[in-house]
Amino acid sequence: MLAASNALLINGAYLLASILFIFGLKGLTHPKTAVRGNLLGALGMLVAVGVTLLDQHIVSFPVMIAGLVIGTGIGAFLAIRVEMTGMPELVAVFNGFGGVASVFVAGAWMLSGGDEGFKEGLVRGARDLIGVENSAAQIALMQGTIAATASALIGGVTLLGSLVAYGKLAGVKWVPEGEFIPAQKILNAALFLLGIFLCYQSVINPDNGLFFLGIVLVSCILGVTLVTPIGGADMPVVIALLNSYSGLAAAATGFVISNNVLIIAGSLVGASGLILTSIMCKAMNRSLANVMFATMGPSSSTASADDVYEGKIKSTSGDEVAMLLETSRRVVIIPGYGMAVSQAQHAVRDLANLLESKFGANVDFAIHPVAGRMPGHMNVLLAEANIPYDKLREMDDINPEMDQVDVAIVIGANDVVNPVARTDPSSPIAGMPIIDVDKARTVIVIKRSLSPGYAGIPNPLFAADNTLMFFGDGKKAFQEMIEALKEA
Ligand code: NDP
Repeated sequence: MLAASNALLINGAYLLASILFIFGLKGLTHPKTAVRGNLLGALGMLVAVGVTLLDQHIVSFPVMIAGLVIGTGIGAFLAIRVEMTGMPELVAVFNGFGGVASVFVAGAWMLSGGDEGFKEGLVRGARDLIGVENSAAQIALMQGTIAATASALIGGVTLLGSLVAYGKLAGVKWVPEGEFIPAQKILNAALFLLGIFLCYQSVINPDNGLFFLGIVLVSCILGVTLVTPIGGADMPVVIALLNSYSGLAAAATGFVISNNVLIIAGSLVGASGLILTSIMCKAMNRSLANVMFATMGPSSSTASADDVYEGKIKSTSGDEVAMLLETSRRVVIIPGYGMAVSQAQHAVRDLANLLESKFGANVDFAIHPVAGRMPGHMNVLLAEANIPYDKLREMDDINPEMDQVDVAIVIGANDVVNPVARTDPSSPIAGMPIIDVDKARTVIVIKRSLSPGYAGIPNPLFAADNTLMFFGDGKKAFQEMIEALKEA
């Protein structure tokens, strides 16, 4: 245990941890520096937790160490076991943990009291705020109560909202779909106002723990009723938003227990989650309100699949595509969600290497910002297969060159290459920037069927004159092409 005179050392260590978090976040903005960024962030957390362990005297040292070991064990186990396609679910669970941790810490502070006369002080602080006498200590207690109620309100929504989001992504059957009572938005508004009312009551009656428990209950119900009506396909955006909430709850908890590093880390998570939410909405050309309150999908004016595809689809095979590729100088591969599903990234790398080494082609990868189911999904998969970063070209960078491409190979991408985004203002993806694969000389689309992607709408690219459909699993299709090219 460190003496009080070591407060400077502790705050210095917290400052160091905060600097490491900020450099960690900066590193995460580019694939080249992402691993280092991750390590810096983890190191910052180790410093923060370690110093807190040395500084605190409320919980015994062995209990804290046990918590650290168990938590690290669970985290490591999940990180190793979970597939890349399951990452959004994992993040949802982590957000939920963040929310519940904030509720517990704030709840312990509110309900257990602390020093002698603590609650009495709270009551006096509360009365002062509404007009009687005043003192700095009482104001501090008052701030703690306000922060604790905010933490409970945000933490409860985060916990249950994250569990519903997890359930939707994992296809858990008991998770309700859609609005389960008429006028659910009015219920949500009523629950929110009730939560605010209970916060107020809790602040002016801090010695009555029932108000605090009421906030937790109402916020948990609100978490369910807010997230339930949102479509499963929009869950990644919801998860980014809940991530931001978990940060805000943590920051509020930092004010409760006067822990600076928790305030800083919580604010960083809150802000970065909000920025990520905004980036995702922008890349889909949708507003956050549209994601939260509207259902995305085909409308009555959306062309039917029969109208778009009938009699116009040309199928191809591995051998045929190999013949095309043998003479191609410029090849671009466009990965999408289906590449993640079929785990084709290694086969994709092998084909690219073969085309470059045996046939002298130039192969690039065109990455759409929301390809897959989370930002950076494709970058992570391709980096895992050791594809050099300079081969990963961003959409805006490669689009002007698409008309010089001999063969564009689309693997498991659908919405992010759907030209309807440019041509049909009534489409659910209208205005969404896309990769202009239709401008390439020949387009090969690899997917298992003509079924739609995330937006649920047909894709005229599949029926275009310059497109050949290669039906099958993404990984198998690449392996077939590789075999055929090796024999060529
Ligand atoms: P899509 O969801 O539009 O399409 C994926 C395609 O992959 C499907 O049409 C499916 O067709 C095919 N597929 C599935 N499994 C396989 C397999 N084993 N082998 C080959 N193909 C397969 O994906 P995109 O990446 O093009 O677009 C992502 C969508 O997700 C966008 O609409 C985006 O707005 C949305 N989104 C993305 C987020 C992000 O952060 N990345 C967040 C929220 C939403 P079939 O079944 O016929 O094989």
